[in-house]
Amino acid sequence: MTTPFALWDLDRTLIRLEIDIEDVKRWKTKIKARLAPLGWDGWLSPMLPTLENALDTLQETHGERVAGLRADLYRNLDDWEAQALQGLTPIHHGIEHLCALAERDTPLALVTNNGKPAADKALRALDEYAASQGWTPPSWRAQVFRTHHRPSKPAPDMLAFALQTMGYDGHSPALMFGDSDSDRFSAQALAGSGVPIKFVDVRSLPLQSTGGWVR
Ligand SMILES: [Mg+2]
Repeated sequence: MTTPFALWDLDRTLIRLEIDIEDVKRWKTKIKARLAPLGWDGWLSPMLPTLENALDTLQETHGERVAGLRADLYRNLDDWEAQALQGLTPIHHGIEHLCALAERDTPLALVTNNGKPAADKALRALDEYAASQGWTPPSWRAQVFRTHHRPSKPAPDMLAFALQTMGYDGHSPALMFGDSDSDRFSAQALAGSGVPIKFVDVRSLPLQSTGGWVR
């Protein structure tokens, strides 16, 4: 049986990043205040795709001024997210599944819309949880975080970059493990461009949902 390439979402797939909703509202207010002088006054929900769209639209009229703002906002978001992190809750069956793949030397990549500072904290907690259960911890062949250089999920770009970084051969089966529509849509978009990738909803695991690839 061909070994699949396995891509994993982080938040609510492997570990829950607990962030106070009031902190989210405060951050949205700050972003809006930065965008308002450029003439943008819209909703930021869902936050990342709408922010990316707003910045793309503004860049067409304001050019390089927006490129600098974009980098600054993403840096602030990364810092804010790591500071706003109230707690980390491991998701048992997600981590169990990941570690079962790690045991079989499945090529693994993390593909998360979270920023690196918060995700690094979550990955440390994930490794500790795996160790506490006696499971093989993941050895990531690629880790792809939110960055202003690349559109976030539901765009397929982060998944494509992860596969490229892993040395993907272009025809092996690939699986995207996630919990949300953004994970599903990103995998579907990539499948539409010819990559044999399927979405696996971790909320609907048990194991047979991977088509027998895992066990
Ligand atoms: Mg998620």
